Amino acid sequence: MYTGQAMSCIFCKIAAGEIPSTAVYQDELAYAFADINPKAPIHVLIVPREHIVSLSDAAQDHRALLGHLLWTAAEIARKKGLDKGYRVVLNNGELGGQTVDHLHLHLLGEQQMTWPPG
Ligand code: AMP
Ligand code: ZN
Repeated sequence: MYTGQAMSCIFCKIAAGEIPSTAVYQDELAYAFADINPKAPIHVLIVPREHIVSLSDAAQDHRALLGHLLWTAAEIARKKGLDKGYRVVLNNGELGGQTVDHLHLHLLGEQQMTWPPG
């Protein structure tokens, strides 16, 4: 169960299975699913099951969880055979381009990425 802000959070509902999604990976700490509006042939979102609004809101106690989310991105990339590379993106806050207020990583792959991002 979840309470407070999380009750109106779309990614909390997706992680809880209350809103449908295409699951890619899950464990007790994280849930990963296909982005509904993909920006690359592979576009996966990785979220903590705990409601954390943004990277700026992550606390000292969340350090291991943040590491777990990065490991999850690498694990999914391995399972999907992205041996030649991929990109992991974390948009933080308004100027960072964050549109959903639940911390998430984007895993983008199967195309040549360009730099710098906009
Ligand atoms: P950001 O702009 O970094 O906050 O990323 C939010 C991402 O969530 C965008 O890439 C959206 O396409 C994606 N998104 C929003 N709603 C859903 C949903 N119901 N299922 C899957 N992806 C979603
Ligand atoms: Zn949430």
